[in-house]
Amino acid sequence: MLEGSGGNIAVLTGPDGKALVDGGIGVSRPQLTKALSDLGPESITHLINTHWHFDHTDGNEWLHSVGAKIIAHENTGKHLSRIQRVEDWDYNFLPSPAGAIPSELLSANRTLKLNGASLELKLYKPAHTDGDLSVTFAEADILHVADTYWNGIYPFIDYSTGGSIDGMIAASDANLAAATENTIIIPGHGKPVSNKAELKEFRDMLVAVRENVAALKKAGRTLEETVAAKPTAAHDAKWGQFVIDPPFFTKSFTRACEIRKLGPCQGATHELCQDEGRR
Ligand SMILES: [Zn+2]
Repeated sequence: MLEGSGGNIAVLTGPDGKALVDGGIGVSRPQLTKALSDLGPESITHLINTHWHFDHTDGNEWLHSVGAKIIAHENTGKHLSRIQRVEDWDYNFLPSPAGAIPSELLSANRTLKLNGASLELKLYKPAHTDGDLSVTFAEADILHVADTYWNGIYPFIDYSTGGSIDGMIAASDANLAAATENTIIIPGHGKPVSNKAELKEFRDMLVAVRENVAALKKAGRTLEETVAAKPTAAHDAKWGQFVIDPPFFTKSFTRACEIRKLGPCQGATHELCQDEGRR
């Protein structure tokens, strides 16, 4: 496990070469290069992107330039190849340079055999984005769950590229089902070595806040009134101490059409109006 700028990075070393799960932010190349060489002399041969966000893929270009083949969900490849607008950040991400685009795109689960280990790459249904994947190091019983889990901090949910609160809860349930009491769980952000009990707290927090927001929505509150009612209050001391603050987090429980300012909600059957938090 390597920590630094960007998301948590897992590294598998051995005679076949180093395999990385996520590559951090490019500016950390010197620190990451040193940390990787401290682990052994092998070259870097594989980089798996858990999703397209820059704090996980900005290192793609330099890691590819030193020999890493990049593997990702097919939607991650799409997002990295085009301009991406993230409404919540009011920011347009430019397409990545050619060398940073994953060359192996997955539309189904796939297992890699490397260094005597089995790396199971499993695609999530849309959760944090529409291109999330987890990596299970089967023999070591280690599960990297990407940004479907933020350990001890409120998560960012990217509505602009297919994320949703319901998807995050479904992914958390899938993660819990895939883990035992002994499994080491690596979250995308937050304390990098976690476990099933901590992951369950995260999942229960998501469910509790969704219930609170749903009640406010049912009572006819607007987005602003919902935020003002502080539906996260009981959880803020524990979870609200990082970049995603309580108002920002509360907004992730509202409808995609409201966040994206697409006009009046047309309900759950309308593709652009996922009816989150209303039930
Ligand atoms: Zn992310």
